[in-house]
Amino acid sequence: MKATFATGAPGQQPYSEMETQRNNLAAAEHPPAPCSLKEAMAAIQRLCEPLVAERVPLETALGRVLRESVCAPEDIPACDRSTRDGYAILQHDPAQVFQVVDTLYAADWKPRQLKPGEAVRVATGAALPCAGLRVVMQENVATQDGSFRIVTPETALNRRQRGEDVPAGGLLVPLGTRLNAGKLALLATVGCVQPRVNPRLCVVHLTTGDEVVPPEQTPLPGQIRDSNSILIRSLLQPWPCDIFQTHLPEDFALAKTACEKLSAEFARADMVLISGGASVGEKDFTSQLLTRLGFTIHFSQVNLRPGKPLIFGTQGRRVAFGLPGNPLSHFVCFHFAVAIALARLAGEAPPQFWRGRLAAPLTAAPCPRETLWPARREGAGLLPLPWSSSGDVTCFAAANALLRVPANTPPLPAGTEVDFLPADFQLPSILT
Ligand code: AMP
Ligand code: MG
Repeated sequence: MKATFATGAPGQQPYSEMETQRNNLAAAEHPPAPCSLKEAMAAIQRLCEPLVAERVPLETALGRVLRESVCAPEDIPACDRSTRDGYAILQHDPAQVFQVVDTLYAADWKPRQLKPGEAVRVATGAALPCAGLRVVMQENVATQDGSFRIVTPETALNRRQRGEDVPAGGLLVPLGTRLNAGKLALLATVGCVQPRVNPRLCVVHLTTGDEVVPPEQTPLPGQIRDSNSILIRSLLQPWPCDIFQTHLPEDFALAKTACEKLSAEFARADMVLISGGASVGEKDFTSQLLTRLGFTIHFSQVNLRPGKPLIFGTQGRRVAFGLPGNPLSHFVCFHFAVAIALARLAGEAPPQFWRGRLAAPLTAAPCPRETLWPARREGAGLLPLPWSSSGDVTCFAAANALLRVPANTPPLPAGTEVDFLPADFQLPSILT
């Protein structure tokens, strides 16, 4: 798709500067009513669509979401196989002495019906010559001139039975599953070597704010180090994606020019994230910039703390967020908003609230805004973490959950059941 920065949304006339300024003034004087957390999550879920799926080799499918259900093309295993080195005999053979009539290694395929008193020497993994056999471990027999006697009776059958893992046609990996190592191995087992999956995502992440300097730089008075870039890069890690990150000047005209030079990056982007400038201050032009990039803004405030000035827009299947600059707001907005969009683009079930119990009291005073409160999930309990403001840069280092605290909730005693969003899915989602 072509970048639409210079021309506005497809089918629309270019915005004039005056028109944009007028819209901005109107927006600043009459900011749209904030939507609720529930409405925001529902809108993102409704307005984001899965990207067009593609077939890729297994080697590049780790972390992708399967966009078809894969069923067993045949019984798994496809025949009875020995689990021991030993001798296959009829399962209920009363014979005392057995004649060895053949030898089967793991790669052999020699179907034959065994008679009472007959045995076939088998290696571990060998396909048994017919159904209804058991394998006597070689350690449990005494051999003599091509025959043997069982010296230590066994009850185990020592075989893997045809179809015992999954019968032919059984569901192996359902549509919408994130592919981890085990699932890829399962696909390889059934020869599904080009699974249909979501494409790699392309994300453009732009930071704003003249006070923001790279983390390797020593900030001058008034400056702060950029922590949002690495935060966003790390939070995106579970979704196989190409990430382009750069910083924009804090001036609408200059930022616009900088974006025009990035038309190739925007053309590829499935998602545009802009850090900072999402509020209604004089220099907050994120909403304006997203509009100029061709996005339709669906909401620009959520009645939530932290994370109130969150902007959400779409352009076809492309998605954009303007994220409030404070790192804790980033963390919160990523988990309740960006993660939903990523899941939808990838074609998997979006994250949802879970239920859990407070391991300690939540002593905060009632707040008129709904809150996603950073917490630590340990075992079955949720430990609320202290945080000073949305500018707090320490508490999310320990947080792995966000408690949903409805507006005007009084202090809650330990043991109270609450809704929470897991915030530790970054790595485990690929591993589970
Ligand atoms: P803004 O949303 O632009 O008003 O920014 C809110 C706060 O977030 C300000 O204190 C910014 O300095 C801070 N901030 C903005 N961008 C970043 C960033 N990339 N890393 C760390 N802090 C940031
Ligand atoms: Mg700013």
